[in-house]
Amino acid sequence: MKFASRLNEVRESATFKYSALAKGEGIIDLTIGRTNFDTPVMIKDAAKKAIDEGKVHYTPSNGIPELRKAIVEKLEKENKIRNLTPENVIVSAGAKQMVFEAVMALIGKGDVVAIPDPSWVSYEPIVKLADGGVEFLPLNPNNGFIPDENFFSALENSDPKLIIINSPGNPTGAVYPKKVIEEIVDIADRKDSWILSDEIYEKMIYEGTHFSPGSIYNNVITVNGFSKEFSMTGWRLGYIACSNREVINKVGIIQEQSVSCATSFVQYGALAAFTEDVKKDVEKMRMELKERRDYVMERMKETNFLCIKPSGAFYVFPYIGEIDDMEYADKLLNKKVAVIPGSPFGSKGRGCIRISYGGVNIESLRKAFDVIEEFEYEDK
Ligand code: PMP
Ligand code: GLU
Repeated sequence: MKFASRLNEVRESATFKYSALAKGEGIIDLTIGRTNFDTPVMIKDAAKKAIDEGKVHYTPSNGIPELRKAIVEKLEKENKIRNLTPENVIVSAGAKQMVFEAVMALIGKGDVVAIPDPSWVSYEPIVKLADGGVEFLPLNPNNGFIPDENFFSALENSDPKLIIINSPGNPTGAVYPKKVIEEIVDIADRKDSWILSDEIYEKMIYEGTHFSPGSIYNNVITVNGFSKEFSMTGWRLGYIACSNREVINKVGIIQEQSVSCATSFVQYGALAAFTEDVKKDVEKMRMELKERRDYVMERMKETNFLCIKPSGAFYVFPYIGEIDDMEYADKLLNKKVAVIPGSPFGSKGRGCIRISYGGVNIESLRKAFDVIEEFEYEDK
């Protein structure tokens, strides 16, 4: 059967593929980007109450006004993003859906999107589905995958309609310093480019601070969601905010003509996320993740991998050498440790693997690294 040509260059999601492979008996799963914490109880209770109260129908397509208002307050207070009203926000079924809708609204044939290399496995496919072209901005493991002169010169030499940035980053864990984001904004401003800032790992920072480009530049679509911060990956809830109402209106058309709205009781549950009690749960999670990150970095010293300590997210992305990372991941899986090969994250991911420490405790990490170390000295 002949399928739509838009799929010609689009491959499956490596994160979901390897996560499915990791489901076998006794496998230590370091694949998918999620934590093993439960959703805070107040959020669960609020969602259950909404179901009991019969809040089971369509909501406004852009989301319930109370939730959009809470999001605006958060973005103003924590991210210093101003010029927003609840009408500048759209809530949808996950940050991924929001990236998809935003790209669909802005990008078409002949448009170029600049994407860091390596970066999350879905940016490039989403741009391709929108018929856009991609310009890769190289990141260097020796610089901890933080943009350096090569990244900036690639950006200077391109003419992107949209620049995607993601700090803290997937798969690198890199947290971009404020001055790096200012430099990206400066170039975007000169080139009249839009920035899509994916801030989904915002609360998972162990050194340094988060800086939102939306606080200093108007042409920014800020993306965030509830999946990571509140351990709600299965609830499917994310949002965008943009001070430009025209952009929001166009994205709103795609939302109305596709997903309609985010799940009603999920939105009511999410309202409870903006409370002090829930913030304490998030902080506890951050501390635990930091311990895991530190443990992983200790074990990394016993390998020959190159891995500068990442300051955020819950991934490490070591360069493991001039070997086929796909083959390496398959062989490691046979030894019951599942990771994601680096290549699907971009050409600069070749020879790397992504280890997610979000979903396992230190005991499992210890066992996994025992296997990885042993494997390093075997004939591969
Ligand atoms: N952006 C990045 C960088 C991600 O790693 C992910 C994966 N969770 C998403 C967006 C999508 O998150 P979700 O759709 O679960 O909100
Ligand atoms: N973003 C997470 C990851 O990278 C979840 C899966 C996905 O959306 O790609 O593993």
